[in-house]
Amino acid sequence: MTDLTSLTLAEARDGLATKSFTAIELTDAHLAAIERARVLNAYVQETPERARAMAREADARIAAGAGGPLNGIPLGVKDLFATEGTRTTACSQILDDFKPPYESTVTSRLWRDGAVMLGKLNNDEFAMGSSNETSHFGPVLNPWRRQGSDAKLVPGGSSGGSASAVAAGLCLGATATDTGGSIRQPAAFTGTVGIKPTYGRCSRWGIVAFASSLDQAGPIARTVRDTAILLRSMAGHDPKDTTSVDRDVPDYEAAVGKSVKGMKIGLPREYRLEGMPAEIERLWTQGAEWLKAAGAELVEVSLPHTKYALPAYYIVAPAEASSNLARYDGVRYGARAEGRNIVEMYENTRAKGFGAEVRRRIMIGTYVLSAGYYDAYYLRAQKVRTLIKKDFEDCYAAGVDAILTPATPTAAFGIGEKAGSDPIEMYLNDVFTVTANMAGLPGIAVPAGRDAHGLPLGLQLIGRPFDEETLLSLGEIVEQAAGHFTPEVWW
Ligand code: GLN
Repeated sequence: MTDLTSLTLAEARDGLATKSFTAIELTDAHLAAIERARVLNAYVQETPERARAMAREADARIAAGAGGPLNGIPLGVKDLFATEGTRTTACSQILDDFKPPYESTVTSRLWRDGAVMLGKLNNDEFAMGSSNETSHFGPVLNPWRRQGSDAKLVPGGSSGGSASAVAAGLCLGATATDTGGSIRQPAAFTGTVGIKPTYGRCSRWGIVAFASSLDQAGPIARTVRDTAILLRSMAGHDPKDTTSVDRDVPDYEAAVGKSVKGMKIGLPREYRLEGMPAEIERLWTQGAEWLKAAGAELVEVSLPHTKYALPAYYIVAPAEASSNLARYDGVRYGARAEGRNIVEMYENTRAKGFGAEVRRRIMIGTYVLSAGYYDAYYLRAQKVRTLIKKDFEDCYAAGVDAILTPATPTAAFGIGEKAGSDPIEMYLNDVFTVTANMAGLPGIAVPAGRDAHGLPLGLQLIGRPFDEETLLSLGEIVEQAAGHFTPEVWW
């Protein structure tokens, strides 16, 4: 029997259907792989008992000729998703040992469809970061290393555990969230596929809130098809989230392999950054050529407000975060640090419970929302946001079907390399991804090539609202041309 952890999700699904192996065998293979890979620190909590119980139930359903579209498929869950009875911390000390009495809508849909939970995955604290280095549980290692080097690299963030686990074969797919790039950037850093759906496509109910107008859940998996399969289960209207949209969920998998002939793909001039590494430039050109060879038409487009996206994001996101994180007060959730009176208790709890990056965001957010600065910062950033959205709308109105860009400005970097005194270094990672969040648009990152050290690099496609299908069709063209990316096992 082939190693069950090297199958794609689609292959595993088909193998379970033809009874080539059982769900419990599939789950056990992954639990053993997780144990061998603890050095990667991808999981912050393993739930083997729950996994085996769920797998046995899946096997019983198979025996009865029943079971949903994900029956018996072992998945990892980012620690931002509330899981009933299983510790959920957003990788922050402030949530301590919080065990939610409820399940997030997205994960409950995965379990409804028969999936198996292997455990909770590491992430940047409250999803604030691009390297997974802000996690209270320590950094995650990227399973990829530079050729001839054993330097430890970051997997990207904030969904670093999700990306690392998927790349290393520690689950067949994982849930993730993306506020400014946290699905797409780690996918690009680990040679995996990640799709951030349109804002409103997945319910945010039961997901620890970071910046509510930007947050969206989505999958990370090893192939475009696998993300399509997962997204179909995760998406859909939820009355418990008023921003989730009541629209049918299409059969996303059917879009994979569909012709892209005649599609118009925009290449935004403003994404050609000064000082961009030549290999990123080459990757982008290569991607455009692949799409052209598949029958798409390439056109240069302009998104003139791109340069304001990152600064505006770093006002809007902290502002919303400062408001969302006000609830962690030592009374209702998690950890408490005592004080002589209630105010001191709040202060001590929050000073002790939040890490440095989260504290920075709360301070920035509180500042830009404060009387006297609100108009100058927050209101202005909101106006810029409207202009960014309009740039895309103009493009799509002119007949463009999707926009092709690099996913990240560089390949994965070393642990500690960008976590120094200047936070801007880290924030610059999001330069190609935040625009889609600001405009609420879907975006996919697909591995497309390697840098000079053999590390994976990704391309991004940004689509029209609720047109994830076009992204999946186009993404598969890139994937077919670029091939699959599997790291060498060293752990
Ligand atoms: N890196 C970005 C930030 O730190 C985006 C994170 C995310 O998408 N959750 O805010």
